This record gives sequence, structure tokens and C-alpha cells, in this order.
Amino acid sequence: MTARRVLVATGLKDVLPDVPGLAEHWGHSVVHCPYCHGWEVRDQPIGVLATGPASIGHALLFRQLTEDLTFFPQGIHLREATRARFAARNIRVVDTPVQEVVDNEDGTLVGVRLTDGQVVARRVLAVATRMKARTEGLDGLQLPVEDLPDNMGRRFASGMAGTTKVPGVWVAGNATDLAAQVGASATAGAHVNSLLATADTDAALAAAQGETPAL
Ligand SMILES: Cc1cc2nc3c(=O)[nH]c(=O)nc-3n(C[C@H](O)[C@H](O)[C@H](O)COP(=O)(O)OP(=O)(O)OC[C@H]3O[C@@H](n4cnc5c(N)ncnc54)[C@H](O)[C@@H]3O)c2cc1C
Repeated sequence: MTARRVLVATGLKDVLPDVPGLAEHWGHSVVHCPYCHGWEVRDQPIGVLATGPASIGHALLFRQLTEDLTFFPQGIHLREATRARFAARNIRVVDTPVQEVVDNEDGTLVGVRLTDGQVVARRVLAVATRMKARTEGLDGLQLPVEDLPDNMGRRFASGMAGTTKVPGVWVAGNATDLAAQVGASATAGAHVNSLLATADTDAALAAAQGETPAL
């Protein structure tokens, strides 16, 4: 197939921590975004499964949604000042690592089992994922990629409105802006369309003047 312009919009893959049982509940009882899922999980017993320092701020956001929040550091260092801030907001900290997710007979998430065997009852787990742009099959374009700080993810590099260093190729949405939500994904499409409208007009004018139109 040939095209005058290419818009890469392959999205991203959320990489979850390697905790058995977690992936099965992704997007339902295991969530990442307080703005996307907050209403549905409000007032429930929520556990924040830390994946890095950014999980501390994540916990404060989910605390706005529930009085019953437990933070599982999963090995990340919590300074005393952070523990004091959590205590002031009634955020419980469980330092023993989580070993697996616990479901009841009908598959509902009901808690997490710690490495010492204790089960902490939870209905929802909040997890900040590592976000990786989907790049499979696109190697031939040789689009530059870049890593985000703190091992947060990898994206296609892009400039204004999704332009890239490769002429004629744009990239939009989560493939380049890992934190973008649905609305942002439309921006590059609008830019490509605007350029095509100009190109069509240039071509029409060239044809009217008896020149060979460029595409
Ligand atoms: C659980 C969850 C809840 C969310 N809730 C909200 C919300 O409430 N509000 C909001 O605004 N945003 C929400 N988001 C974010 C939103 O889903 C994304 O911002 C949005 O889908 C990004 O759109 P996109 O077009 O960039 O990528 P996607 O929607 O991921 O689409 C990419 C598409 O490309 C396809 N693809 C990938 N690779 C290839 C390839 N090589 N060839 C062909 N096709 C390919 C994929 O199969 C997919 O269909 C949520 C995300 C998640 C994970």
C-alpha cells in the first residue's frame, strides 16, 4: 500500500509488575488512573501497589477517593517524612511485600497475600504501570524513540502536533505522549489533515496553471 502521509497511532502497552493474579484484573479491579476510574472505585478499600517513587503521589490522589487506603511500598524506600504525611492522611503502610492477588470463588478481587502468608483485604488495587509505546512492525520507519526518566516508559520522539524527524510521518496519541488521554490523540490527525488540504489546493492550483502537481 502507498500513502501520501503516515500517521503512527499504535498506542502503548502498560507493563504491570510481575505479581501473580494482577494482570487478570487490569482495567477493572486493578487500575492506574484516578481520573479515569476514580468514580467507579470511590469509597472502596483500595491498595496502592508501589512501582517507584511516583507511587507516593499516586497514593495521595487515590486517598482523595477513599478513607480506606493501604500503601504497599514493594521495596521502595519511604522516608520518615513520607510516612508522617501518610499517617496524617490515615494511609496505612504495609511493608511486607505482596506475593499474589487473592480472588474469591467467582473471581472477584478480595485482597493480596503477603510473603508472610497474611492476607490484606482489598477490593481495588492501584498500580502505576511502565508505559511502552507499541513499536512492533515499525522498525523500517526508523523513528527515533526516547526513554522517560525513572524507568517510567519509552515513547516515539515527536515535535509539534506529532511531527517526527522522518518526513511525511506523524505519530499521535499514547505512542508518543504516554500520559495522553483520548482527546490528545486527535491532534496529529488534525495537523495531517490540514497539510493535506493545503497540498490538495497547491496541486489544484498547479494543475490549473498547467504545471505538474506535487502530492
Ligand atoms: C484501563 C484504562 C482506562 C482508561 N480510561 C480512560 C478514560 O476514562 N478517559 C480517557 O480519556 N482515557 C482513558 N484511558 C487512556 C486512553 O485509553 C488512551 O489515552 C487512548 O486509548 C490512546 O489512544 P491511541 O489511539 O493513542 O492508542 P490506542 O487506543 O491504544 O489504539 C492503538 C491501536 O493500534 C493498534 N496497533 C498497535 N500496534 C499496531 C500495529 N503494528 N499495526 C496495526 N495496529 C496496531 C492497537 O491494537 C490499538 O487498537 C484509559 C486507558 C486504560 C489502559
